[in-house]
Formats: sequence, C-alpha cells, structure tokens
Amino acid sequence: MNTDSNNQDQWNPCDQGEIGKLVQHLKDRRRTQVLQRNATVALLLMMVGFSGYFVFSGGGLGDAGHGGIVCTDVMRQADEFIANSLDAQTNDNIREHIVHCDACRIQIEKMRAELNEPAATELQSEQEADIATRFDMTSHTLVGSGVFSSIEF
Ligand SMILES: [Zn+2]
Repeated sequence: MNTDSNNQDQWNPCDQGEIGKLVQHLKDRRRTQVLQRNATVALLLMMVGFSGYFVFSGGGLGDAGHGGIVCTDVMRQADEFIANSLDAQTNDNIREHIVHCDACRIQIEKMRAELNEPAATELQSEQEADIATRFDMTSHTLVGSGVFSSIEF
C-alpha cells in the first residue's frame, strides 16, 4: 500500500507534466499553424491588392490609354503607322502614345527595323561598299599572287 501510494506519487506528477507539456506543445504548434495561415492569407491579399492596383492604374503591361489610344489599337495600326498611311489624327495619337508607352515604342521600333527602313538599307550598303573597297584592295594583291582565284566570296 505504501509502495503503491509512493508509486502514484512518483508517476502522477510525471504524467501530468508530460501531458501538460504535450498539450502545450500541441497548442504552440496550432498557434504557429494559425499564424502561418494568417500570414499566407495576408500575403495573398497583399498580392491581389498590388496586382489590382497595377491593373487599374495602368502600371502593368495592360492597355494604357496614352494619347487617347490603347496599346491594342496601336499594335493593330502599327503597320500603317510605320508606312505613314494613317490619317493625321491617328498618327498623332500613336506618336503621343509611344512617347509614354515603352512596350509599344519598342515593338514599333522592332517592326521598323524588320521592314528595313531606307536609312538602315543605306547604312548597310555603305558598309558593304566599304568592305568591297577594302576587299578589292586586298584582292589585287591576292589575285596578283594567284591565291584569289580559288576563293569563293
Ligand atoms: Zn502602348
């Protein structure tokens, strides 16, 4: 009997302590999980808020109405703009738009380059002429030495 009560005295505080620790641990973990979940929700809300801000303020790559014209319309008429075949008003609108809109300006510059603007062609032929002149100068020596006849240029 004495030993039993001794055993109980030994085990009871220990058990309670263990359970208490376990419960405390579970509580802590749950609190951490709740905190993490709240943080995730807050982060998501912030992201949604930010993207909403960008979309509505036109800070993203969306349709910004610079020059009273939106990007979609600029891109749709970019060919004619480059070819200078638009009416003066639309031409002005696009010109005004690409001053403020990097995306459209870059796109139009790219299209211009692809269409081989006269300026670009001139530069290219100048370079070609230059190379030809230099090559001609060297070719004389090469032909003279009999090496050039075997080179396909
Ligand atoms: Zn644009």
